[in-house]
Formats: sequence, C-alpha cells, structure tokens
Amino acid sequence: MSITDSNVLIIEHSIPVNLLLTQYLKRMGFSKILVCETAESGIKTFEGLALEKRDPIVFLGYHLPDNTAAGLISKLFAIAPDVKIIIETSLDRKDPKIRQLFSMGVFHYLQKPLRLSSVNHVLETIQKEVDEFNNIGIDGRRVLEMLRSLKKASVVRLAEYCSYDPKSLLPFLRRQQEKSVIYEVSKIREIGCRDCNSVNNISLFSCDSCDGQNFRRDTLIEHYDCGNISTHDTYDNEQCPKCNKRIKIIGGDYRVMNDFYICNECDQRFQIPHQNFICSKCGSKFSLDEANWIESKVFCFTNNQNETKPFEEQSEFSEIDTSEDLTIIQK
Ligand SMILES: [Zn+2]
Ligand SMILES: [Zn+2]
Ligand SMILES: [Zn+2]
Repeated sequence: MSITDSNVLIIEHSIPVNLLLTQYLKRMGFSKILVCETAESGIKTFEGLALEKRDPIVFLGYHLPDNTAAGLISKLFAIAPDVKIIIETSLDRKDPKIRQLFSMGVFHYLQKPLRLSSVNHVLETIQKEVDEFNNIGIDGRRVLEMLRSLKKASVVRLAEYCSYDPKSLLPFLRRQQEKSVIYEVSKIREIGCRDCNSVNNISLFSCDSCDGQNFRRDTLIEHYDCGNISTHDTYDNEQCPKCNKRIKIIGGDYRVMNDFYICNECDQRFQIPHQNFICSKCGSKFSLDEANWIESKVFCFTNNQNETKPFEEQSEFSEIDTSEDLTIIQK
C-alpha cells in the first residue's frame, strides 16, 4: 500500500507553511489533505478520521495558538497510539523542547523552513515503516493499543491477547523500541496453563480441607490456661468460652493470632489458602506445582516513563537531506 493513499492532516498555524506543504504533498501524489490552523480543530478532525479508521499522517507545527505541541500530541496518542506525527519546527532537534516530544514517541522531525526534499525523505521513511508492518502481517495499531490499555505487558501476554506468535511479535516490538515508542522494562516469569501454556489465568483460593471458597479472614485467640482456640468474638467480655475465666494479659495468659482463615463450610482453620489456577483459554484447573513457568520480556509505553531518556539514547531520527532547498524548487 502506498502512503500517498493515506489521509494527511496538517495542524499548523502559519498559512504560508500550510500552502507550501499542501503544494509539496500534492506534487508527491497525496490527494486527501486536510488543514487545521488550531489545535482544537485539529483534534476534532483527527477524531473524526480515526473513528472511520482513516487515521491520517499528521504534520504538526510546533507553535499553535491554543495548545502546546506536547499537549496535542498526548491527545493524538490517546486516540491512536501508533499515529505517525511529523513535528515541523525551526527549533533544533537537540533543543530540550523537541527532545521532550521525541521522548513522548514522536520521531519524525522536519526543520523549518520546509524543503521538498526533507518532506519527501520523511514520508519515504514512513512508507518503509508501513511496508515493514505489512510484511510481517502485524496490526501495529492493535498491538500498541493493547499495550497502552495494559500499561505494561510481557511479549507472551501481548501476543496471546492479539492472537500472534510471540516470536513474530518480538521483532515488531523491537522496532518500536528503537523508535522510542516503547521501552523494555524487565523480564518476567508468568504462570502458564499446564495444558495449553496460556498466561491468561485466574487465581482461585480455597479451603485446604474441603476445597470450598466460602471462607473468611479472622483473628483467633488462644487461652493458655485451658488451651481453647477460637475467634476473638467468642471471647465475650474478655471471658474464655470454654473455661469462663477472664483473659488478662496478652502474651501472659493468652495470645492473639491475626490473619487466620476459617472455612464457613467445614470450620477448618488455615493460615494460607490453597491456591489453584483456572485457564481462561482452555478451562483447565491446575495447581502452582503443575503450572508451566513462561519467561518473556516486558514492554511499556515510553510516555508512561517519568524520566526523559537522554537524547543520545534515542533512536536515530530520519536523516534529512538538505541539498535541495526552496529556491531551487521554485525555479
Ligand atoms: Zn472447608
Ligand atoms: Zn479458657
Ligand atoms: Zn489452558
């Protein structure tokens, strides 16, 4: 698929820049070009297109009259996590304000004044990305939306939720990592179903005697004098229910045991409930000892990160060829 069939949304306050960019895009074969001069109209138009699954490529001017670029970008990402945003600015790409946008997951940069060759180059890079997605048959938008909704997820879990093989999903995630859209947090070992390896399991806790789930957490009191052990509410007026003596000094003639579980069905008392798992995929019930442990890498969205990565750690951004400038084009 050629990206020239895509919608393009220009959110840019400067009318001359809009006219020039529209002219460049038309020359490259784009025909579905929309222009908004404010952040507010930009976001409305974007929402409308995203709703119809016609996500546009966004050219975003850094200076807008009614919102910051960062504010608008986070709104765009909230609607479509894999939206392609090209930031146009006269600021240097090493400027902290621009680096902040890179750390949010914007990785296409256009230096103003705009040149046809630069616009062309950045769109070629996007075309390559789209081709890569299509080659491996992964719906990037769906995967990234899933990761965003989970906040953090292992490759295995993400692959299972999106119905992909983890091995084919990992290269896609690696590419997103190179572009600083996501980052690797750690490795994790997850409980996998005994029968089908699914990591989508529900934990079940039950009585260790009758296996029922009707139990409560309570506090037990042991009266040393007579050996009675019963729940604290049976010691009415601090009187032992067995020998009727008053309990006096904690640690002296009685002790308190917090966090005990008492089965409402069979009256069994236990400190640790019995744990089982039910597989959401195949329905199999299995214990911790029977589970398969599955190890994989955990990824998280970059804009969930509190700290901005240093610029040197960022990916390489589209290199821009500046050989052909505006004056040459207008000859
Ligand atoms: Zn029980
Ligand atoms: Zn007693
Ligand atoms: Zn299973």
